[in-house]
Amino acid sequence: MFETASFEFLEKLIATPSPVGYESEGQKIWKEFISAYSDATESDAYGSAMARLTVNNDVPTIMLEAHADEIGMVVQHISDDGFITLNKLGGSDSTIARAKRVNIFNKRGRVSGVIGNTAIHLQDTKNGGGKQPAWKDIYVDIGVSSKEEALELVQIGDPVTYIDELELLNDEIITGRALDNRIGGFAIAHAMKLIKENKKDLKVNVLALNSVQEEIGGFGARMMAYRHMPDAAIVTDVTHATDTPGINQKEHGSIKLGEGPTLQHGGANHIAIVELIEKVAFEKKINIQHEATSIRTGTDTDSIFFQRTGIPSALISLPLRYMHSPVETASLIDLENLITLMAESVLAMQPDQVFTV
Ligand SMILES: [Zn+2]
Repeated sequence: MFETASFEFLEKLIATPSPVGYESEGQKIWKEFISAYSDATESDAYGSAMARLTVNNDVPTIMLEAHADEIGMVVQHISDDGFITLNKLGGSDSTIARAKRVNIFNKRGRVSGVIGNTAIHLQDTKNGGGKQPAWKDIYVDIGVSSKEEALELVQIGDPVTYIDELELLNDEIITGRALDNRIGGFAIAHAMKLIKENKKDLKVNVLALNSVQEEIGGFGARMMAYRHMPDAAIVTDVTHATDTPGINQKEHGSIKLGEGPTLQHGGANHIAIVELIEKVAFEKKINIQHEATSIRTGTDTDSIFFQRTGIPSALISLPLRYMHSPVETASLIDLENLITLMAESVLAMQPDQVFTV
């Protein structure tokens, strides 16, 4: 499916923590990979990274976008006996945190820790036994016994992530931390690769944007979309696969792992681009699934489409189980189809392409 170099790139992307606001190490890896498939790369002040493939100045510019950051935690408080209380960075779920291993990052490097879990034999209501913990109830043990010792290793405000990395469950299914949305950066980089390999058919300019700070409000995408004002944008992120036990599909839609990327309809999704993508999927025989937007897409699409005078945008997503957990799970077949669909949609665009309704 993917060549070894691609798989190594994915492993490296996932293995490099990029919690919100601290994305730069992951961005270096992304830029290094995509530079082979683009004419130029650049970054802005907050670290959003971009690669460019140029045809000429007279044709429209289409942006492919994904976010580079992952959710995480942050050091909030250190007790006199050296235990560290966390808060969330983005939408991290406190109810799954206990008994996990974490890394805490700062200028001096990384510090290992474990999130304490009182033994089942010792649990009572006073130490949270039987209760879903909030972040204020969660603490990290880094093996020290005083606040002074802890402060030699970490400081208030240091970002924290789980240590889980990428693993294959079988030939098709991958699992790991931060597939949301390191896998999107992987997808736009490979869409660029595919476009570059078919550059003779390319009639528009392409920008690939890997944005920072999506998980706390889509800020990186806002800055870069405003700066570059592309003529249209195709955004990719993960979406909830709803094919596991206990999910109400009437409420959350019916999305299956392995049945193809999803195309979202409504809201920020521009009707004409959605139509173009649907046509490309049909012609290239790529399976897609459909999703409805109620109010917001919950992705960078919401940050991009309304910039300045409006940027016609569309969202194609990768189905993902167990979102915002360290065992996020996705299908490599869906990923390959997502990449092909993005690349073919760009290659289908014309030099006089205008998206109107
Ligand atoms: Zn995401």
